[in-house]
Order: sequence, then structure tokens, then C-alpha cells
Amino acid sequence: MISLYKDQHSGDSAASSARTKTNTAETPRLRQPPSHIESNGKLNERNTPIFKQRLSILSDDSIFLFALSLGRHGYFVTCNDLDNMTQVIRKAILICKALLFTVRTASNFILGISCDRIRAWRASRPLPSNAKSDIPQNIVVIGASFAGYFAASRIARFLPSGDTHRVVVIEPNSHFQFTWVLPRFCVVGGHEHKAFIPYGGLLKGVSSSKIRWIRDCAVSVDQDNVKLRSGNKIPYKYLVIATGSNNNGKLPSRVGSERKEEGEALLREMQSKIKESQNLVVVGGGAAGVELVADAKSRYPDKHITLVHSRAALMHRFGPELQTAALESLQKLGVELVLGERVTSDQPVEGFINTDSGRRLECDMIVSYASIYYD
Ligand SMILES: Cc1cc2nc3c(=O)[nH]c(=O)nc-3n(C[C@H](O)[C@H](O)[C@H](O)COP(=O)(O)OP(=O)(O)OC[C@H]3O[C@@H](n4cnc5c(N)ncnc54)[C@H](O)[C@@H]3O)c2cc1C
Repeated sequence: MISLYKDQHSGDSAASSARTKTNTAETPRLRQPPSHIESNGKLNERNTPIFKQRLSILSDDSIFLFALSLGRHGYFVTCNDLDNMTQVIRKAILICKALLFTVRTASNFILGISCDRIRAWRASRPLPSNAKSDIPQNIVVIGASFAGYFAASRIARFLPSGDTHRVVVIEPNSHFQFTWVLPRFCVVGGHEHKAFIPYGGLLKGVSSSKIRWIRDCAVSVDQDNVKLRSGNKIPYKYLVIATGSNNNGKLPSRVGSERKEEGEALLREMQSKIKESQNLVVVGGGAAGVELVADAKSRYPDKHITLVHSRAALMHRFGPELQTAALESLQKLGVELVLGERVTSDQPVEGFINTDSGRRLECDMIVSYASIYYD
């Protein structure tokens, strides 16, 4: 923090000294100037080597004028204060950013609510009679995870009144599968059920005539219909495809089952395999890989755990500070890190797995986040 030193001799009026006295009485933080500031407000050069060094580009006169102008306003800033000033400015900038963020979030929220109300009002108006048809038109949403579930909920809320349109969701999973918790739940037991959230929460208040949920999987799409695994065809007017990114559909990235009970069992199986392994190799040092490795090593400190990552830095999609923090934390935990190399298979052979540099890693279990598929 900047300390303020009241100059009891500067200032050109009695009012100034009166103000000084009042402030001194009211503000216990005010102190006498230190030795390198003389009582007349000038800097004592002999006692201010750091200050002089830092301001060496300024002439003595400039330093004097600088000090004097501060003195005229009744305050001195010492060289230590200048040392801290950068920190204070940084903190001030951070506080400003935090304030701006809060204001922006609050205004977006208020704006969002207002827009929703306007949309709901507009949607509640009946369509012109020539736009009506006896059969509701389908707005089909394929996939109900983060993107599709949210899209379905929003669209259903703002459909025009009457039975002209409806949302049809096609999703094979019995529950919303909250993938973000999977790295931890692959290691830590007793929480598996929390990865499966019943559908419906986002649809509260939506009329049942506006939404139809089909638990099935889309296998093909043509210009007018979506064909399902069951063989049924769903006609559509509008189509939202939210089937997510390509993945191998298995743990540790995805649950690997459409049913909650089976998904929980798969998680428990993974937990016991990790628990039993002696030499665990995790492939992929992105956020999920780092989390799983950190959890496994924290829980089983005696286990030999290696993290293999093809890039030079862990969590390469994040900033350098977080990358360094992740690296240091894993090193501190005792995880062996192999960076800039790739494993050459997805299964250990005779207790080892190789990397493309020819390194042989002892391994009796491999957990892979890599999106590479081996023959
Ligand atoms: C382990 C892990 C941790 C993560 N952690 C974070 C995090 O902390 N923060 C973050 O922001 N992001 C995180 N992510 C990324 C985030 O989960 C994804 O960005 C997000 O899941 C993408 O959502 P989505 O709806 O597009 O696709 P997905 O979540 O992949 O969902 C696709 C949906 O489509 C369904 N579907 C697929 N094919 C069909 C079909 N043919 N017919 C019908 N339905 C189908 C699937 O059943 C599924 O429900 C994480 C991802 C993983 C794997």
C-alpha cells in the first residue's frame, strides 16, 4: 500500500496546517517524513540512492520539482512507496476489471430477462390464420447434451401459441451425462450417480404439447426426415444437429453407456482397475488428463503414475501460468511426466508400453484421453 506522509511545513497557509492537524488526528496512518525527505519537502540525495537510481533519467531539478509538487499538495511519496506503486496499480486494474465484469454480467442478465419477456410476449401472439396447419411442424433436435438440451429448452419456450409447432428431441441417453466429473469419478468412488442428471429440469414450465422426447438414436437424415435406430422416421421442418464432437464414446471421456445403472457400473469398474494397478500410464495431458492423474496420485501416493503428453507443455490450450502451475503440482506429487512424445499402442505388452521416441514405460494399465485410434 502507498503510505502518505503529511508535510507539516509545506503548504502556504494556516488552513493547510490546520487541515494537516485535523487529518493527523483523524488518520492514524499519517507519519513523519522519513530521513531522506527533509522538513522543507526536498529530497535528501544522500539518503535516496534507490530513488536517484530509478529516476536517473531525470535531472536533479526534475526530481526536486516532482517532490515539491507532491509536497505542495501536502503529501510525499517515498521510494518504498514507488516500489509498491506498480503493485497498487495492478491491484487497482484488477479491481476495475472485476467491477466491469460484475456490471457487464448483471446488465447481460437483466437484458436477457427483458429480451426473454419480449420474446415470450411475441410468441404468445397467435399466428395469422394462413400460417396455421392441422399437424404441428417439427423442430427436431438431435442430441440433448449441453448444446442440444439447452437449444430445445429455449426453442420450446418461444414457440408461437397454438399447436402449430413443437420441438422433438432425439437422444439415446436415459439421463443427461455430466462428462466434466468423469475424470474424478474414474478415481474416487461413491459419487457415480451424480454424473447422471435426470432430464426435465430445463423444461420446467414448458407445455407438454410443445415438446416431445424420443429416446432413440438418429442413424441418418434426409431432406425431410430423420431416420431412427428403431426404424421410425421423424419428419421435420427445422433441424438442429447437436451430436457433439467425435469421440470413442468410452471412459474416461464419455460414459460408454446409454443407461444410468450401467454407466455407474462402468465407473466403478474403472475405479477398481486404477486402484489395483501398480504402473498406471495416462495418455493426454489436457485438463481432464491432468485432473485424473492428480486425483490418482493424491489418492494412491505409492502407485507409479506416468503422464504422457504429445506437446511440450501440459494443458496447451490454457495460458502459460496455468501450464506451469499444473506442471509443478504434478512434479510435486511425484507423477512421472513424459512430454513431447506419443505412445505407440493403446494396450501394454508384457508390462510395458512404448513411445515414439523408443522409450519403454512400465505399465499394467493405460487410461487414454488421446483421440487417436489404433488398429
Ligand atoms: C472429461 C471431460 C471434461 C470436460 N470438462 C469441461 C469443463 O470443465 N468445462 C467446459 O467448459 N467443458 C468441459 N468439457 C467439454 C464439454 O463437455 C463439451 O464441450 C460439451 O460436452 C459439448 O457439448 P455438446 O452438447 O456439443 O456435445 P456432447 O456433450 O458430446 O453431447 C452430444 C449428445 O448427442 C447425443 N448423440 C450423439 N449422437 C447421437 C445420435 N446419432 N442421435 C441422437 N443423439 C446423439 C449424445 O448422446 C449426447 O447426449 C469436458 C469434456 C470432457 C470429455
